[in-house]
Amino acid sequence: MFGNRITLFKLFGFAVRVDMSWVVLAVLVTWSLAKGWFPYTLKETYPDIFYWLMGAAGAIGLFASIIFHELSHSLIAKKYGLSISGITLFIFGGVAEMEDQPESAKIEFLTAAAGPVSSLVLALALYVINTIGAAGQWPASITAVIGYLVTLNVLLALFNLVPAFPLDGGRILRAALWWWRDNLRWATRIAARIGSLFSLILILAGVLKVVRGDFIGGFWWIMIGMFMKRAADMSYQQVIMTRALQGEPVGRFMCLNPVTVPPHITIRELIENYVYRYHYKMFPVVEGERLAGCISTRQVKELPREAWESTPVSAVMEQCSAENCIQQEADATKALARMSQRGVSRLMVVSGDRLLGMVTLKDLLQLLSLKIELEDNER
Ligand SMILES: [Zn+2]
Repeated sequence: MFGNRITLFKLFGFAVRVDMSWVVLAVLVTWSLAKGWFPYTLKETYPDIFYWLMGAAGAIGLFASIIFHELSHSLIAKKYGLSISGITLFIFGGVAEMEDQPESAKIEFLTAAAGPVSSLVLALALYVINTIGAAGQWPASITAVIGYLVTLNVLLALFNLVPAFPLDGGRILRAALWWWRDNLRWATRIAARIGSLFSLILILAGVLKVVRGDFIGGFWWIMIGMFMKRAADMSYQQVIMTRALQGEPVGRFMCLNPVTVPPHITIRELIENYVYRYHYKMFPVVEGERLAGCISTRQVKELPREAWESTPVSAVMEQCSAENCIQQEADATKALARMSQRGVSRLMVVSGDRLLGMVTLKDLLQLLSLKIELEDNER
């Protein structure tokens, strides 16, 4: 889902990224504001360039509104000790990337509610500013942009409050069900089913719109519906996986004695004697007893071929970090989440600066399928 994304800046310690699909949205929003919304809402006519500038301002406002919404989720989540790796804006809005599942229904509720509440508060604040502006005879172009942002933030809050998981409203519903029956799996299953149903209704409504001749509107509904369907199904699968892997420490199924690389060998030696021989993409770099870092084909690719002969592994290796290491007592679900987030298939299991073993996606998935086969008989 997050293919090409670039990090824009950091805000309160959260990296704000945009998916390349957001560029498409920015252009679409600017265009539809400049050609549709503003010429329609403004009473007087202005030169074209005016509408384009207002459209761009509206698109920037949309961008800021979504960041504000996601940031509110992230700040509340952080307050309760959930780690958020960043905020990514993609074509349909934003996602605060949460690494952990909330620990209690109350935390889930507060984290989910923070977004829509903050959007409504922002809408109210902008409305007050606009009222002041109207009284103070501000130019109509400015009040029109602010007016658009009021509507936008109200819509953002309302759409997110639809009780369809993984939308905020669905999370609130899940929190309520979770609190009621004290069963997170069941609560997620119900919330995800409603989410799936809602997305099917959206797709169907979109198709109807297209049939009636509203191609652009219908197309949006279909796209949003498809996106939500995927997200709802994925969150349901996540429940099954969590159910099977939760409480299993990584250390239980790591492979011991992994192949390690000494830091002084050259990249050419690494490729000839390790990569081509063992077919792994990543090797831990160990010096004596100490884990120094890791080297992956990613770093090798960034190096020009001529430098392979002269560059030692230690010069280009990646330092140990929370991205490539995991503690042996950490939950297996955490390893899985980290792998999917970073797009890697191997993590080093560490204790202090010692390498204990490796945990691989393949092993995790194999264990997962065995566990589901043997233990999943509960409806
Ligand atoms: Zn939200």
